[in-house]
Amino acid sequence: MYNYHAFLIKYAEIGVKGKNKYLFEDALVGQVENALRPVEGNFRVFKQPGRVFVETKGNFDYDGAVEALKRVFGIEYICPVFIVPSLDLAVLKEGVVDHIGEAYPEEHFTFKVMVKRANKDLPQTSPEIAADIGGMLLDKYGDRLTVDVHKPDKFVYLEIRDRGYIYSEQIKGACGMPVGTAGKAMCCLSGGIDSPVAAVMMAKRGVKVEAVYFHAPPYTSDRAKQKVIDLAKISARYTGPIKLHIVNFTDIQLAIYEKCPHDELTIIMRRYMMKIAEHFAKKDDCLGLVTGESIGQVASQTMYSLNTTNAVCTLPVYRPLIAFDKQDIIDISQKIGTFETSILPFEDCCTIFVAKHPVTKPTLERIEKSERKLGDMTELVNTAIDTVEIVDCEPME
Ligand code: ATP
Ligand code: MG
Repeated sequence: MYNYHAFLIKYAEIGVKGKNKYLFEDALVGQVENALRPVEGNFRVFKQPGRVFVETKGNFDYDGAVEALKRVFGIEYICPVFIVPSLDLAVLKEGVVDHIGEAYPEEHFTFKVMVKRANKDLPQTSPEIAADIGGMLLDKYGDRLTVDVHKPDKFVYLEIRDRGYIYSEQIKGACGMPVGTAGKAMCCLSGGIDSPVAAVMMAKRGVKVEAVYFHAPPYTSDRAKQKVIDLAKISARYTGPIKLHIVNFTDIQLAIYEKCPHDELTIIMRRYMMKIAEHFAKKDDCLGLVTGESIGQVASQTMYSLNTTNAVCTLPVYRPLIAFDKQDIIDISQKIGTFETSILPFEDCCTIFVAKHPVTKPTLERIEKSERKLGDMTELVNTAIDTVEIVDCEPME
């Protein structure tokens, strides 16, 4: 395969952040470094005006690097780049011709040359340089290359900065914003399909995520817990490391099961989950909670039900999937790689204690009345909080 020297990284939205732009660029550099850490090779990541570069020394795992970069939010395009360490225009033009010859030794295609100069004191303008290079390419490879300025098969780019950067391929990145630029949120992570997708979608907007999982041993197994840890690790390939809080919910759940109407179990359980999730969120300076809820998906997710669960929270609850159809959520979970794990058939604490005919139109009044039957729950809640198990979930390799 053709041996590239570096990647030129184009970012989209972070380009418009005005005075704070450097914060976004620095976060992107950090995330790129993290993503490349497990990839074989020696990478140096640095900024230049409007761009981030990844320079490689010696051999490296090209496919692994591209895959890792495709999971970094904030990147619009990943361009494998060939560097010519010169500012001499004749050398740069030759460099482009050599690059095309080596990267595409046999292909037939139409092209357009695009030149960008950061360095304005060159003797020619960008269009003049581009025209020269186009002519040279036709002279050398005219039997298989033709110019098409409207809809070329390939754009051939030369960016002249501190030296020449040549590229002819743009691999689509994950877009969004670099993780760490938008505060932190606590995601309620179950073993289902939806919540890992919700966590990754928040990360796509730059939010760092932590997670909380409620289990009910011995009603739920260690395998169910391991499944959630695995989901956190797979999601972490996009979100970065996830601090996962594992809360023993058994006694709270049994109390609710014993004392409250069974058709209201899920709602009341969800309210306790949200309260406890909020405790950990505030403790770790999270600015909101995140769930994988979607209107109407199940009884506990009608707008009536969502109202009653929301009522216990003081932090905003972000529900990135709220208007998504199930199939659209599945499509994303397949893309991010969580689907196969999500559908493993281990029991969830909600499904064990679930009623046959749960309420779909609860009122807050009715739910609060039922909850009063629980008496003082402070001790159970405090015990659940005090016995939390924390697992730091690093990205799965
Ligand atoms: P599914 O894909 O089966 O719908 P789900 O994760 O969405 O899975 P729901 O029962 O629909 O499960 O729960 C709605 C939301 O409530 C979840 O997306 C998640 O944010 C939160 N949640 C449910 N159960 C738990 C749990 N055991 N621990 C943490 N959060 C939970
Ligand atoms: Mg769901």
